[in-house]
Amino acid sequence: MACDHWRRAGVLQDLQVRLLLPAATPTGVPAADEVLEHTFATYGVEVLREARIEHVDWDVHAVTVATGTGRRVLEDVAFAHAVPHYRAPRWIADAGLAADPAPGLVDVDPHTLRSRRQESIWALGDAADVATRPSGGALRKQVDVLARNIAAVRDGGELQRYDGYTVIPITLDRRKLVLVEVDRDGRPSPSVPFLDPVKPRRSTWLLDRYALPVIYFRRILRGRV
Ligand SMILES: Cc1cc2nc3c(=O)[nH]c(=O)nc-3n(C[C@H](O)[C@H](O)[C@H](O)COP(=O)(O)OP(=O)(O)OC[C@H]3O[C@@H](n4cnc5c(N)ncnc54)[C@H](O)[C@@H]3O)c2cc1C
Repeated sequence: MACDHWRRAGVLQDLQVRLLLPAATPTGVPAADEVLEHTFATYGVEVLREARIEHVDWDVHAVTVATGTGRRVLEDVAFAHAVPHYRAPRWIADAGLAADPAPGLVDVDPHTLRSRRQESIWALGDAADVATRPSGGALRKQVDVLARNIAAVRDGGELQRYDGYTVIPITLDRRKLVLVEVDRDGRPSPSVPFLDPVKPRRSTWLLDRYALPVIYFRRILRGRV
C-alpha cells in the first residue's frame, strides 16, 4: 500500500524499500507467493528472507537483522514498521494449558479443538494451536465445529473435524487484492467456487472493502454465515 502511494506520488524510485519475511516465502502457498513476488519486483522491494530483527540502534537509525544467509546491518533507516512475534496471553501458559511457554497457545487437538490437557476445555481463534495461519475468516469455520463438538460430547454424537481453513487477504495496491483461502495443507478452499482467488482483482478489493464489513457485522457475528 505504501509503495503504491509512493509510486503515485512519483517518489518510489528515490526510496529503498525492504521487506523482512520471517519465512523463505511470503505465504507458503505457491500460487499466492508467485503473485506477491511479482508485486515486490514491480515495486522494486528488496526482500530479506528468514529474517529476524536482532537489534535496533535508534540513535544511529540502524537495524541489525539475522537472515537465512547471514547477519546484515541496515543503516540509515528512515522508517521501520516492526511487528512483534506472535504469542498468546501469558495466563494460558501459566494455567498449564499450553505445550510451550512461547508462543503459549492453548494445546488443542487441531481437528476437534478440544484441549489435549483438560477435556472440559475447548479453544479456537488466535490463542489456540490449530495448526493453521490464524485469521478472522478461520474463526467462522472453527466456531461451527467447536459448537457442534461441545453438543456432540453432551449428547454422545460424533465429533466434527476442522480442516484448518483460513483466509489470507493481501492488498497489492490501492485497488487490487488477492484473497487466498486455503486449508491446513495449503490446498485451495475458495468460498466462491470456479473463481481463481489468487488472481489480483478489483472486485475482490471492493468485496473486502465494502461488502465484508457488512457481512461481518450483520451475518458472521450473529452466526448466520
Ligand atoms: C493488522 C491485522 C489485520 C488483519 N486482517 C485480517 C483480515 O483482513 N481478515 C481476517 O480474516 N483476519 C484478519 N486478521 C486476523 C484477525 O483479526 C484475528 O485472527 C481475529 O481477530 C482473532 O480473533 P480472536 O477472537 O481469536 O482473538 P482477538 O480478536 O485477539 O480477541 C481476543 C480478545 O480477548 C481479550 N483478552 C485477552 N486477555 C484477556 C483476559 N485476561 N481477560 C479478558 N479478555 C482478554 C483481548 O483484549 C481481545 O479482545 C488481522 C489481524 C491483524 C493484526
